[in-house]
Amino acid sequence: APLTLSAPPAPHRPDPLAVLGVPGEINLDHAASAPCARAAADAVAELLPWYASVHRGAGALSRRCTLAYERARQTVADFLGARPGDHVIFTRNTTDAVNLLARALPAGTTVVTFAGEHHANLLPWPRGSVRLPVPASPAEAVRALDAALRELRRVGPRSGGGASELPVLVAVTGASNMTGERWPVAELARAARRHDARILVDAAQLAPHAPVDLAALDVDYLALSGHKLYAPFGVGVLVGRGDWLDAAPPYLAGGGATSHVGAATHDVRWATGPARHEAGTPNLLGAVALAAVCAALGEADRDALHAREQALLTRLRNGLAALPHVVELRIFGPDAPRVGIVSFVVAGRDSAEVAAQLASTHRIGVRDGLFCAHPLARRLLVEAAARSGRRDLPPTALRASLGLGTTAAEVDALVSALAQPG
Ligand code: PMP
Repeated sequence: APLTLSAPPAPHRPDPLAVLGVPGEINLDHAASAPCARAAADAVAELLPWYASVHRGAGALSRRCTLAYERARQTVADFLGARPGDHVIFTRNTTDAVNLLARALPAGTTVVTFAGEHHANLLPWPRGSVRLPVPASPAEAVRALDAALRELRRVGPRSGGGASELPVLVAVTGASNMTGERWPVAELARAARRHDARILVDAAQLAPHAPVDLAALDVDYLALSGHKLYAPFGVGVLVGRGDWLDAAPPYLAGGGATSHVGAATHDVRWATGPARHEAGTPNLLGAVALAAVCAALGEADRDALHAREQALLTRLRNGLAALPHVVELRIFGPDAPRVGIVSFVVAGRDSAEVAAQLASTHRIGVRDGLFCAHPLARRLLVEAAARSGRRDLPPTALRASLGLGTTAAEVDALVSALAQPG
């Protein structure tokens, strides 16, 4: 018989996307903040002994930290499909990233959003922004945007102003933080392109669940938060076209953002590139941890992760649908594609009280309230009352959100806890 050689057993590699957690505590609140992935924790632990100044020291420790920081930037750029000329700017979180872009808009820019956005993508925009009503379907979102942009180009930002060539920025979410429903980002980007507008995608809720690629989606800017992507708090990114960012005043003025400072008060030349908006000593550990998760997700079988999450989501939604006193909230309808997030109300019960009871009796963590999306939440609660015909729905909602570590047993625990009389 021919000699066959069996491969040596592969060395055991711990799963970089395993998440840390506390045994016995069921965390179904990933949309608020996800637990830390092993990849992030390991990256931080490895770098801690090297802790030193970034971009500011000549010592070996400092040089390694600078290298690690810039490598992290490159890893994030690759993960998000950044193009040549795009900047990856490390921020504190999505809110910080959107505010940064809001301050970098050229004079006269009109921003167009939908009323279904998280406050982080509603409130930073200048006066005169256009807020389109929450659409009834993804197709309607594209139609409404197309019509609004056509009108803006025809009459200008203020009616009577004449045809306008002024900059326009469309700012939309990739997935709703309330319902997980996905917005048709690629189609919205095409609509923006047709009217020579730029587009920002708030990927805070999309990136943890699905690959997001700037080049493939033809999106100009993207914002996300590390703490929703299995990395620690305090790091986020704004990625996108460098021209507006390089022309804008620095988001923060201070050390690191300058190329020259003279003796006279206003004799300063600001750096270009990411440094322009990253004054002050940067969050090295945050950046490195976020990059480690990006690298691990980049190597993971995203289709398998997606299929697993969708199965859990279906299990949860079916479980809730079988409870006659639970009503789901939704924007586009029952079958719209969505990430692992579900919002709902328990008829006749206060949502804060239900959340508190889930925590104290069942050790299940969910979120209650209006989810920093007040205009959307109010609208969805009215719609849920009309659809269900119930007059005893509470004025705030509950949200369960799934993540990498979520199990079927945890989903079942929530459903059976909600099945019990309050
Ligand atoms: N956008 C969306 C869609 C979100 O869900 C959130 C967080 N809930 C944010 C923006 C803001 O994120 P952060 O609080 O990390 O700035």
